[in-house]
Amino acid sequence: MRIDPRLVQRLRNARRVVALTGAGISAESGIPTFRDAQSGLWARFRPEELATPEAFPRLGTLVPDWLLVTQNVDGLHQRAGSRAVVELHGNIHRNKCFDEDVVVAEWRETGERPPCCPRCGGPLRPDVVWFGESLSPQTLAQAEAGARRCEVLFSIGTSAAVFPAAQLPLTALQAGAMVVEVNKDPTPLTGMATFSLLGLAGEILSHLLGETWPA
Ligand code: NAD
Repeated sequence: MRIDPRLVQRLRNARRVVALTGAGISAESGIPTFRDAQSGLWARFRPEELATPEAFPRLGTLVPDWLLVTQNVDGLHQRAGSRAVVELHGNIHRNKCFDEDVVVAEWRETGERPPCCPRCGGPLRPDVVWFGESLSPQTLAQAEAGARRCEVLFSIGTSAAVFPAAQLPLTALQAGAMVVEVNKDPTPLTGMATFSLLGLAGEILSHLLGETWPA
């Protein structure tokens, strides 16, 4: 695999970096992407057997101003040791009260399904953004601020089709940042990105890290 030396040079000099990730970055850890899931492969999902993308925590420690914005709800970035993670669509491992919209960490198991909120007795639900729901304005504002101030924005393993997440690389481009797409297949962002690296995220990111910051 050959990485453009101009990309390596610009990345070496970058101080403010944002990475926007999607389902594709978890694909090599065994979680089907949204598209895979639609073809029925979701049945293979075995969270207890998941590995985590290892290149990411290292990338996050190499630049002074780092922000990881993920559309994923699987919590794998945190399990892999990533810092500064903004979860645009929530986290499937966290629950909240359906009625009060506040996170609930503990509740009494009565066998009732779904379990009940210990405060108000309302039903508990996963703390994820369901279809038709809005993103948390604070979370989105944090991601947008990152996209506006970064010098480099990576868009990794996302079909760049789910808004408002798909707007973030465009915001970064408009603000003058370099946008690097890493994806298995071309997306609507491919023609606009400064660099587009087609292939598996695990392979490309490991290679890019090695070229830019040799151990
Ligand atoms: P998507 O399924 O629409 O697109 C995934 C993209 O990743 C595709 O463009 C595909 O070509 C690419 N891809 C697949 N495997 C790859 C790999 N190994 N390396 C690089 N690229 C790879 O996913 P999306 O854009 O994230 O949007 C779907 C929505 O569904 C999001 O909200 C997402 O959070 C949610 N979702 C989350 C998970 C998860 O948490 N792991 C899984 C499925 C869907």
